[in-house]
Amino acid sequence: MLFLSGGCGVLVILSLSTRTLSRRRRQALVSMEAEAMLLLLADRLAYIYRGDASTTGYYMVRITNFLVFELSLFVIHSFDIYLMDLYSHSEKVKKIPKALVLCEVLFTIGIILVVISQFTGLYYTFDAQNYYQRAAGYAVSYCVPLLIMMLQFIVIVRYRDALDNMVLTPIILFSVIPYLGAILQYFFYGLSIINICMVGMCVALYFFEIINMNNQLQARIEAERASNAKSRFLANISHEIRTPINTIMGMDEMILRENPTGVPKPYFMSVVGYAYDIKAASETLLSLINDILDISKLESGKMNLVKKEYDVTEQIRSLYTMISVRSNQKNLRFDLDIDETIPQKLYGDAGKIKQIMLNLLTNAVKYTEKGGFKLSIKVLGKENGVCRLHFSVKDTGNGIKQEDMNRLFSAFERVDEAKNSGIQGTGLGLAISKQFAELMGGKLWCESEYGQGSTFVLRWNRR
Ligand code: ADP
Repeated sequence: MLFLSGGCGVLVILSLSTRTLSRRRRQALVSMEAEAMLLLLADRLAYIYRGDASTTGYYMVRITNFLVFELSLFVIHSFDIYLMDLYSHSEKVKKIPKALVLCEVLFTIGIILVVISQFTGLYYTFDAQNYYQRAAGYAVSYCVPLLIMMLQFIVIVRYRDALDNMVLTPIILFSVIPYLGAILQYFFYGLSIINICMVGMCVALYFFEIINMNNQLQARIEAERASNAKSRFLANISHEIRTPINTIMGMDEMILRENPTGVPKPYFMSVVGYAYDIKAASETLLSLINDILDISKLESGKMNLVKKEYDVTEQIRSLYTMISVRSNQKNLRFDLDIDETIPQKLYGDAGKIKQIMLNLLTNAVKYTEKGGFKLSIKVLGKENGVCRLHFSVKDTGNGIKQEDMNRLFSAFERVDEAKNSGIQGTGLGLAISKQFAELMGGKLWCESEYGQGSTFVLRWNRR
C-alpha cells in the first residue's frame, strides 16, 4: 500500500508537469492523485494503529479513519470535476449535465455526514482497545459515494457519443470498478478493497490520459505535415500555372494591338471581342492563382513584408482610378473622405496595404446593388513619429448576417450563398486581407447590419 501511495505521489508530480491538458482537468487529475496518495497513507496508518490502546493510538485511529472516509469522497469529487471539464470541452454537450452538479451537492452532504459521524458515532465507533467497529449508520456511508458514482455512470452512458472511446473506456471503468469494490468490501469486512480500487483507477486514468495526449500529439504532427505538403503543392502549382497565363495574356495583348488595315471589319471586330473575353478570363484566373499563392504562403508562414517608403496620395489615386471604373459600370456612388493631416509619405509594405484596400473596395462594388460606398482614411493620433491610422470602407450593400460573422475571414468561405450565387468569388480575399493586416501588426474587422450595409475597418500604426 505504501508503495502504491508513493507511486501516486510520483504521478502528482508528473500530472503537474503536463502541459497539453486544460488547466481544470490537470488540477482535477493532480488532486485525484494526491487524494489517492493520502487515502492509502491514512488507510495504512489506520491499520497500523488499530488495537493500540495508548493515547497516540486513540487519536491516530480516529483521525486516520476520518481521513479515509473524507478522502474517498474527495477522490470521487475530483473525478466529477474531471468529467465536468471533459463535457465542457465537448461540442456535442451544450451544458454541463445537471446530474454532475447534483453529485457536487451529494459530495457536500457526504462530507458533512462524515464530520457528524465523527462526533456521534453514526458510521463507526471504537472500543476500549481502539478497534474500529461498524455502527448503525454504516450503510449510509456507502450510499452517498455509491449514489454519486451511479449518477456519474448514468451521465457517462447517456453522453457516450460526446467522447471518443479512448476517453470513454477509462471513465466507465472509474465509475464501475470502485462500485464493485464497495459491494465486495461491504461483505468482506476488514479489506480495503474500495480504496485500492479507487487508487488503481486514479492511476489508470492518468495513464489513459497520457496515451490520449500522445495520440493527439501524433495527430497534430500528421495534420501539420499534411497541411505543409498541401501548402507546398499549392505554392508550386500556382507558380507553374502563372507562367503560361502570363504568356496567354501577352499573346492576347498582341492580338489586341494588331494592325486592322486590310482586314474585313466584321472579322476584325469579332476577333477583338474574343480577345477581350480572353483578357477578362485570364485576369480572373491570374487573380485567383495569386490568391491561392498568397494563402498557401501565409499558411506555411513564408509570407514576408517588403517595407519601403511610399506615397500615400499616389496610392489612393491609383485605387480610386481602378475602382471607379467598376463602380461607374454599376452606377454606384464612390465617395472619398481623406484626413488632411495624413502624412504624404508612409513607411510599410505598400503592396499588401493596397491589396487589402483593393479587396475591400472590390467587395463593396461586388456586394452593393444600389447606393454606393465610401473610403475613409483618418489619422487617430501621432506619437514619436508613429501614426495611428484608421481605414474604413462603408457600403450600402446586402450586409452580413450576425451568425456569418465568424466565418467571414476564413479561407474559402463564402457567406449568404443563396443571395450571392451570381457574384464571382472564391472566399479568399478577406482571409488574405485579415492575415496581411495581422502580419503588419494591424487589425481588420467588420461591422454590419443585414440588409443595410457593411463597414470594414482596418487599423494599424505606421511610421
Ligand atoms: P469573395 O468575395 O471572393 O467571395 P471574400 O473573402 O472577399 O471572398 O469575401 C468572403 C465573403 O464575405 C463573400 O463571399 C461575401 O459573401 C461576404 N462579403 C465580403 N464583403 C462583403 C460586403 N461588402 N458586403 C456583403 N458581403 C460581403
